[in-house]
Amino acid sequence: MIALTGTVVDAQQTLRDVAVIVESGVIKDVIPADRLGEYSIDEVYGGKGYLILPGLVNAHTHVAMARFRGLGEDIPIEQWLSDVIWPAELEWTPREIRRWALLGMAEALANGSTTINDHYFFADEIAKVALELGIRAFIGQTVMDEVDFPLAKPEEGFRFFKRWDGKSDLVKPTLAPHATNTVSLEIMKEIGEFASERNALIHVHLSQSRGEVETVKRRYGLTPVEYLERAGVLNGRLIGVHGIYLSGKEVGLYSRSGATLVHCSLSMAKLEGRIAPIIELAEKGTNIALGNDSPNPVGLMDMFTEMRFAAVLNKVWRKRTDVASAREVFSWATLGGARALGFRAGLIKPGYPADLVLLNARKPQFLPGENPYSHIVYSARGSDVELVMVNGEVVYRNGLFTRIGKTLEELWERVELS
Ligand SMILES: [Zn+2]
Repeated sequence: MIALTGTVVDAQQTLRDVAVIVESGVIKDVIPADRLGEYSIDEVYGGKGYLILPGLVNAHTHVAMARFRGLGEDIPIEQWLSDVIWPAELEWTPREIRRWALLGMAEALANGSTTINDHYFFADEIAKVALELGIRAFIGQTVMDEVDFPLAKPEEGFRFFKRWDGKSDLVKPTLAPHATNTVSLEIMKEIGEFASERNALIHVHLSQSRGEVETVKRRYGLTPVEYLERAGVLNGRLIGVHGIYLSGKEVGLYSRSGATLVHCSLSMAKLEGRIAPIIELAEKGTNIALGNDSPNPVGLMDMFTEMRFAAVLNKVWRKRTDVASAREVFSWATLGGARALGFRAGLIKPGYPADLVLLNARKPQFLPGENPYSHIVYSARGSDVELVMVNGEVVYRNGLFTRIGKTLEELWERVELS
């Protein structure tokens, strides 16, 4: 049995001076810290001044794109994809994917993401890396058929799903059509039928550029959300990402569908100079999750940074400061992500999976400590994370990834000096 002690903060409550008891991958109990002697504990981590958070759910990533960090800055998203990213992606080999996925994933884990939802090519390699590190990973093989791209053949997406479905506790396959303009309606319908039969999640970029909206309109006379509805995929298994050009009508249609919208405010603010109508979506009942998107363009696989930008950019976008409170944004990063992925997590309660983050808050920026939600969103950094537990196992502690026995610096050396 393992215990984490400190102040528990989840989206529903704050509990001071408690111990979280973990056994067999789940949270067994949450008790006052002075009753710790009632259990026979093997290891205790944390203490006074530590915060215990539910693992952050990074609901949209492309971890291997750590390889492209800093490339193609300050150009529009369509040009960024066609002139910079897609040509570079044609050079990938399985070995290179593993090297860079390990780096991107390790960075996310060390910064408090216990779960990622990844969308990329060579998905088998990314799944293997997730098992090496011990992170919880939902992974889809990117599919495109409207762009000539050999790495993204639709049949590979289905094959990947079948290979990994039911195979692992940590790695769960998804279906990952690229976007509404890069996948034909015909293939999107096939994806929808497959998803219904297998109860699969569909993870898709949605309304992420003006060009996407124009292309879907020209081809089908539809908006991107109407296209998803026509394809039969607009339902509670859909995880749409970005949505920065959604119209008011689309916000209504999307909100009634039960689908999740993943908000990557930093990435879209940098690539397109705008963010999604998140407050309108949330007010109409859409489940909101947060994601880092790719290390290029955001620079950091750090959900604390993502939370901070989401809280601030929504205020600027709406020209109102009474929206996107720290507690609400923290809820998007935990409960919202777990709901999107259809698993019962995101809270620190007996019976919940032991996906936990221990934050060393014995630092000036965490005082006076009366409003921990504010401190988590506005003051914390990924580097304050001291320990990460996934499924009851300590997979990261003080810079060391325990499953592979390597530190962050050794991973850096492996790429930089090879
Ligand atoms: Zn993306």
